[in-house]
Amino acid sequence: PGPRPAPVRPAPVRPAGIVVLGSLNMDLVAYVAQAPARGETVTGRAFRTLPGGKGANQAVAAARAGAEVAMIGAVGTDGFGTRLRTALDRSGVDTDLVRTAEGPSGTAHIVVDDEGGNAIVVVPGANSAVTSLDHGDEALIATADLLLLQLELPLPAVTAGARTARAHGVRTVLTPAPVPARPLPPALLAATDLLVPNQHEAAALTGRTDPYAAARALLADVPEVVVTLGAAGCLYAARGREPVTVPAPRVTAVDTTAAGDTFVGALAVALAEGRPMPAALAWASAAAALSVQREGASPSMPYRAEIDAVLAPAPGGTEA
Ligand code: AMP
Repeated sequence: PGPRPAPVRPAPVRPAGIVVLGSLNMDLVAYVAQAPARGETVTGRAFRTLPGGKGANQAVAAARAGAEVAMIGAVGTDGFGTRLRTALDRSGVDTDLVRTAEGPSGTAHIVVDDEGGNAIVVVPGANSAVTSLDHGDEALIATADLLLLQLELPLPAVTAGARTARAHGVRTVLTPAPVPARPLPPALLAATDLLVPNQHEAAALTGRTDPYAAARALLADVPEVVVTLGAAGCLYAARGREPVTVPAPRVTAVDTTAAGDTFVGALAVALAEGRPMPAALAWASAAAALSVQREGASPSMPYRAEIDAVLAPAPGGTEA
């Protein structure tokens, strides 16, 4: 017989219940040598349509990481709407509360150049129809262990979701992206338990480029902050404690698309299962590091067993 398999943390008796209130977008991606300047036309190499949107991406990441996930959002009456809904269904995400709004689905028009740089135009489409929540949405949020929010839906709906969660003692995790031109509504921040910006978003929100200074400034508004730092890992700050950095596993990145959404999805699952923040951050970092080693957004997101395997002790009993 070969070496015994590494012991893996057993799955919890009941999967964590996560609700995502957020966007669904079809990503329309053109691959070119160099993005065109204004007034210029260039010939691209390839074109792909890929289901995306920050909300849907976080939902898929959390479902793969082992949670029971339900999504609240909207798709349009076009063909993209059907595809976006089917893609979530296939990932095991409950789409009963994803509405169909008359008109086009949300789209992200993405130009990727040969150096891996990109330029993106997001047209919200059906996402803009989610301006408020109904009783069904509120009842679903009330039963969740954790609510995931981003800023690709109208702010009144995001704020209503956070407030509903808060009223029922459900933990709220907000990715403040895209950063709006105006300050975030105080009512939204007041109902946010954990804010997870990347370093650019943290700087845009606070005017401070140093992530430590930005995290400290954000603690005036929310009790806990995680600033993601790409290959440098992340920074965790909480009121009354010294901030700590959690390094990312050293890997060769081939595509960092949706690394942040993978990180947040996995972090949400670990927190909803009741794991303490340091362990949850290590698990989320392992998940994100797996995703950057593979192409694509949702296709690159790891499953629970893969994440556990990164952190499991090596056969023989010594820590990896
Ligand atoms: P970002 O949105 O770029 O800050 O990335 C989000 C998270 O993904 C980071 O906090 C890391 O955990 C992970 N990540 C991103 N890029 C890399 C990389 N090159 N190597 C390892 N992990 C990464």
